[in-house]
Amino acid sequence: MSILSSNTDPLIANGNRYATSLYAYERRKTIPVQIGDLYLGSDFPIRIQSMTTIDTMDTQGSIEQSIRMIDAGCELVRITAPSVKEAQNLENIRKGLRERGYTTPLVADIHFTPNAAELAARIVEKVRINPGNYADKKRFETIDYTDASYASELDRIRDKFLPLVKICKEYGTAMRIGTNHGSLSDRILSRYGDTPHGMVESALEFLRICEDENYFNIVLSMKSSNTQVMVEAYRLLSKKLKDGGFKDYPMHLGVTEAGEGEDGRIKSAVGIGTLLEDGLGDTIRVSLTEDPEFEIPVAQDLVRRYDSRASSQDPIQAFAGQSEAFDSPLHPFAHTRRKTTEIFSIGGHQVPRVIADFSTRASISIADLKAIGHYYLPEPDKWAMNDLGADFIYTGKASLDFMLPNGLRQIQDASVCTPSDFVYPLFTYTEYQSASTKHPVLNFVSVDAAELCSGNDSFDPTCVIVLKSSNAHQMPAIRRGFFHLMQNEITNPVIIHLNYGSISDDQFQLFAPTDGGALFIDGLGDGLLLSLNHSKNKEAICNTTNFGTLQASRMRISKTEYISCPSCGRTLFDLQETTAMIRQKTDHLKGVKIGIMGCIVNGPGEMADADYGYVGIGKDKIALYKGQEVVKKSVPADSAVDELIQLIKEHGDWREPSVNE
Ligand code: SF4
Repeated sequence: MSILSSNTDPLIANGNRYATSLYAYERRKTIPVQIGDLYLGSDFPIRIQSMTTIDTMDTQGSIEQSIRMIDAGCELVRITAPSVKEAQNLENIRKGLRERGYTTPLVADIHFTPNAAELAARIVEKVRINPGNYADKKRFETIDYTDASYASELDRIRDKFLPLVKICKEYGTAMRIGTNHGSLSDRILSRYGDTPHGMVESALEFLRICEDENYFNIVLSMKSSNTQVMVEAYRLLSKKLKDGGFKDYPMHLGVTEAGEGEDGRIKSAVGIGTLLEDGLGDTIRVSLTEDPEFEIPVAQDLVRRYDSRASSQDPIQAFAGQSEAFDSPLHPFAHTRRKTTEIFSIGGHQVPRVIADFSTRASISIADLKAIGHYYLPEPDKWAMNDLGADFIYTGKASLDFMLPNGLRQIQDASVCTPSDFVYPLFTYTEYQSASTKHPVLNFVSVDAAELCSGNDSFDPTCVIVLKSSNAHQMPAIRRGFFHLMQNEITNPVIIHLNYGSISDDQFQLFAPTDGGALFIDGLGDGLLLSLNHSKNKEAICNTTNFGTLQASRMRISKTEYISCPSCGRTLFDLQETTAMIRQKTDHLKGVKIGIMGCIVNGPGEMADADYGYVGIGKDKIALYKGQEVVKKSVPADSAVDELIQLIKEHGDWREPSVNE
């Protein structure tokens, strides 16, 4: 009946529960963690944090930037400490901030250097270590470990890590064990592969050492630039902590290298928002390739959404699983798409469809279609489409007095619709049951998730379900509708319809990706219809958010993907300016992934599955990568963007921008 019944994955052998509830908003219960005067986890608010981008040796610059971040609402300031000298300088930065009346806790960010960590732990309130590189150097080797040789590796890690644990305990310093998908150790990769399971085990190896020492002032994170992997890893962490008898440690949420602008915001919302919806996460950092103070309002919008999300509101009927340990029919730790039948290019193996909502307009003109990627070019008198061309346009009761271009089709309210090869009716569930005129191939039937779960679930093979909910806990209510379909083996495709009324454009670009992304990450949905009331450019903003959500949840790639780091004190070139320059020259290369990294701290793995990489290796010296391989070493920064374009051309991924682009 479900994905679960055909799945023999040991990760879900004893259940798939990872959250307190999938049906009512409830935060996961955690122990409190103290960071200076700040507490997080337990019943404390979800904390907002960010990281400085200035060289840590620039004391005054670091102080000023920290103050800008704190004034914007940052509650924890992280600063990189690549070596002992930067770790030592944290003392001056901290002192300067205290003298200016700022008591916000500081976090030292450590990669590779236990001696810097041990020094910083005596100075600042928290240290972040990366278990992938604290005790291991990356050699990109696959080693076959026996149980005995693996255990002796763990002994080696214990010897290196134990001094830091003891110092943190003595000084009351908190710690984040922060796994990065892109920088797992060769040991973890050899045994678990490049997987959410490997990410979790990477942290648990270090956590066991802390618990053996009765040191519990710990926060955990599982970051990745791949939102599916990131979400699965945090969920698995939650389950493994429970199953393994560990304490319930708070979680720090983040999507690494999310990028900049609208794409970075949408991608962060898909990853972070998906977890927040299920009550996971006690502190968040939105990593944008922008000045860190601009990350704060985005993080605040994501978090404040839950201030009024009472658990008792609009109860959603829980799924009756195989046992208490199975609270849904999903595999929450591995992406699997819900199986559906294909109806006229919707569902089956087709990419999710984008439906543009024009239903509040009394009339629609040819020029209006520009907002959804379809252009009329008077010269040479033809239609064109960019990479964000919507698939369907929903016009409500309005009719069109022109032919739709580029394969775009119309959906119209059934009460006024004369079905044809280009126009398809949208019924309510009740209308559909008694309708005398239907389309012979494709009919859309709009149904509320609660109505569906109460038995309004009879659909013939021409029906595409348009699933919506008026519940304040909208995403879980719609998700519950999907569970009903899966349990009852109903395989009609589903268009997810999310309606946001009159929220601001900024909030819309975070909330819609949260709700839509959370469903697509679990493989639920064959299309997305977004509705927004008041915005002046609502069709355009809904269209870019729709495509952005599908791209960020890795369901439909429609544009170039940039995996750019947020920059920090290690950055070796002007990341914002370079990213903008690369974007300007390559943003027509649909489907190409370009990694832009300020340094090579974690090796090329950090760029995840980028096709091309632009990486700082020295002051204004760049290495260019094809996949995981360096192909041009030490290119001067002022010619590196042109060299990157040349590289893309050499590998056949270049095309000239078209007129529309
Ligand atoms: S990749 Fe970017 S954010 Fe990460 S350490 Fe290097 S410069 Fe800093």
